[in-house]
Amino acid sequence: MIQINNLSKHYGELVVLSNVNATIKKGDIITVIGPSGTGKSTFLRCLNLLETPTGGSMFIDGIPLLDKTTNVPKLRQRMGMVFQSFNLYAHLSVLENLTIGPIKLLGKKKVEAQEKGMELLRLVGLAEKANSFPDELSGGQKQRVAIARCMAMEPEILLFDEPTSALDPTMVSEVLSVIRRLSREGMTMIIVTHEMEFARNISNKVYYMDEGIIYEEGTPEQIFENPQKEKTKEFINRIRSLDFKIASENYDLYAIQAGMQSFCQKHMVTPQVTEFTSNLVEELLILLKSLKDTQLRLSYSEKTGEITLTCENPGEPYNPFQDETMDEDIGIRIIQARCQDISYKYENGSNTLTLLIKNG
Ligand code: ADP
Ligand code: MG
Repeated sequence: MIQINNLSKHYGELVVLSNVNATIKKGDIITVIGPSGTGKSTFLRCLNLLETPTGGSMFIDGIPLLDKTTNVPKLRQRMGMVFQSFNLYAHLSVLENLTIGPIKLLGKKKVEAQEKGMELLRLVGLAEKANSFPDELSGGQKQRVAIARCMAMEPEILLFDEPTSALDPTMVSEVLSVIRRLSREGMTMIIVTHEMEFARNISNKVYYMDEGIIYEEGTPEQIFENPQKEKTKEFINRIRSLDFKIASENYDLYAIQAGMQSFCQKHMVTPQVTEFTSNLVEELLILLKSLKDTQLRLSYSEKTGEITLTCENPGEPYNPFQDETMDEDIGIRIIQARCQDISYKYENGSNTLTLLIKNG
């Protein structure tokens, strides 16, 4: 359906895309992942001709996209793009947001556009909001309207640029569910996302972007379980763990807890385990002799769904869980009750405690 050869995009001296090659088939659901600033948005914008590539060629069903004779607006209509920020028309009702494009650009009759619009609103769960205005909707609802509006133009391909990153965590899943639903209806989609669980479950192909190219591509299993190249490995390991450095006793506990909570939410850890985890950190840090230069690492196992908290604490050997004077300590008891395994080792002047948190 789409063939991309040696696509490049420079902004002056800055080379954002250097040599992107890709083949997208009808019905493909491709997720694009990678560190920020690696050209993921630029890639989508070039595809949609919102940006003019510096070099290379792109074909859609054999039609050269970058040819001067190509009808750009017509081709662009074949691809709908959903952005991070929803860009709805504030002065139009939800339904009008969905009908204006089809009436003005596709020449549809009003009644027909409205019928189709209502059908799409039902698809995204918002038929009841047809006469509301965008201001009256939550972020998640706005984004669902934006998706429906995109669909109203009857695109063959949907491009999503981080569709959930502007949303509160509580609203992410309603939007992801809608995208999942569209995927089951056979839409071809390219989705730039930071939601790794989602990427893993929804797509048949994953592109990892780095260094101005599609650095590695494969099935979700290949990319998430068994990445081959160095940067992909680094990235995958990094998203599965979250590090905190504690310099002194005056550390910011709340920032650590908030970071851990959002990490847990991102990995769809249950609210109960999320709560355990953030309480555990507080209890654990109280038990240590000194907090100077302590490192915490929260890791998530894709395979088992388990959360591990590792704490590296320099100083004399000390394991609070082996300290007889601490037997009655309430913190110790709380931690023991919530962990299925607690291990300890002393190496290179540092105590390492590894707590495997009970999964439920
Ligand atoms: P990503 O979506 O992966 O975070 P982007 O495609 O947004 O990355 O950006 C890649 C790089 O291109 C960044 O360094 C960004 O600053 C730069 N860039 C993006 N758009 C422009 C622009 N219009 N002009 C100049 N530089 C840009
Ligand atoms: Mg981006």
